[in-house]
Amino acid sequence: MRKIILGFVGLIALIAVGSLIGLRMSTGLQDALFQRALEKRMANLTLPIHEGSLNVFICGSGSPMPDPDRASACTAIIAGGDIYLVDVGPGSAQVLQSSGLDMSRLKGVFFTHFHSDHIGDLGEIAMQSWAAGRQGPLAVFGPEGVEDVATGFALAYRMDEGYRVAHHGADHMAPGGLQLAAREIDLTLLKFGALEVTPIDVDHDPIRPAYGYRFDFAKRSVVVSGDTVPSNNLERIGAGADVLVHEALSRELVQVISDQLRTNGNERVSDMLADTLDYHTSPVEAAELANEMGVKLLIFTHIVPPIANPVMERIYLRGVGNVRTSGVVLGRDGMLFELPSGSDQVIGP
Ligand SMILES: [Zn+2]
Ligand SMILES: [Zn+2]
Repeated sequence: MRKIILGFVGLIALIAVGSLIGLRMSTGLQDALFQRALEKRMANLTLPIHEGSLNVFICGSGSPMPDPDRASACTAIIAGGDIYLVDVGPGSAQVLQSSGLDMSRLKGVFFTHFHSDHIGDLGEIAMQSWAAGRQGPLAVFGPEGVEDVATGFALAYRMDEGYRVAHHGADHMAPGGLQLAAREIDLTLLKFGALEVTPIDVDHDPIRPAYGYRFDFAKRSVVVSGDTVPSNNLERIGAGADVLVHEALSRELVQVISDQLRTNGNERVSDMLADTLDYHTSPVEAAELANEMGVKLLIFTHIVPPIANPVMERIYLRGVGNVRTSGVVLGRDGMLFELPSGSDQVIGP
C-alpha cells in the first residue's frame, strides 16, 4: 500500500514539474523542439520494403466488434514494391496512412466478400492513395457484387474528386483518381507481372460466394483465408504456402459474452452474436489447418472478440500450443513480414 501511495505522489510530482517546464518554456524553445521532432519523424517516414521480396503487412486484424487497437479486415500483400490489399475494413485506411507504405504504389483491392467489416474504407483508401500520387482508376476485384460496391463508393466520392482537383490543381491531383475499375472474378488464376493470384472458394455460408486468395511471387507464397469455416479448398490450394493469414474466432469467449448479454436482458444482440459461431474458424482449428497445409507461419487475424487484456488473450489462444508449438503469431495492426526470395525465411517484426 505504501508503495502505491509513494508511486502516486511521485507521479503527481512528475506531472507538476512537467507542466511547470511547459509553462516556462519560451516560444522559441517550443518551436525548436517541434522542429527537431519533426525532422526526426520525417527522416523515418518510409517503411523499408525490399522489392525482390514478397511482404505481408497487417492493416486490419480486427472484426466488426469495436476494438480501439484493431482496424477491421485488411491484409496488404506487397510484391516487387507494388501493393495489393485484401479487404479494406473500417479503420484500415488510417493504419495504412500511418504505416509509411508508399500508397501511390497501390495497384488493386481484392475483396473476399462484402460484409461491411471488409469494405467500409474503400473510398478512403482510393482517396488516400490518389493523394499519395496514384493515378487513374483504382482496380477492384471480387466475386459477384463487386461492381455494385465499387459503383456505390465511386458515386459517394464523386463530388470530393471534383473538390480536390479544383483546389489543388490537375497537375497535383490528376482527374480520375477516385474512379474505381471493378472486375468480377471467378476462380481463374490472375497474373500481375510476376505476381500470381489464385482466388479460393471458401465457406462463409450463407454468404456466397466468399473467397480466400493465394499469392505467389518469386517462389514465395502467402494465403489469406477471408471469412470461412475450416475450408478443404483453402487447405488444398494453399498447401505448401509459406504464410497463412487466417481468421479466428474464439467460441469460448463469444459464448460467454453472448450468455452475459442474455442475463442482462439483451436477447436480441445475444442471439446475433451467437449466430456468428457457425461461420468462422477457431484459433485451434486454424492451427490444425496450418499444420495440414505445412505453412511456416500462421498469423491470426479477424480477431473475434476484441482482446482487451492478457487474460482474454490466454483464453483466445487456449489449446493452440498443443496443436502447433511454433510458427504462430497473433496478428496486430502494423506488423510487417518479409519473405525474401531465394530463401525459406519469414522475417517478422
Ligand atoms: Zn464475413
Ligand atoms: Zn468479417
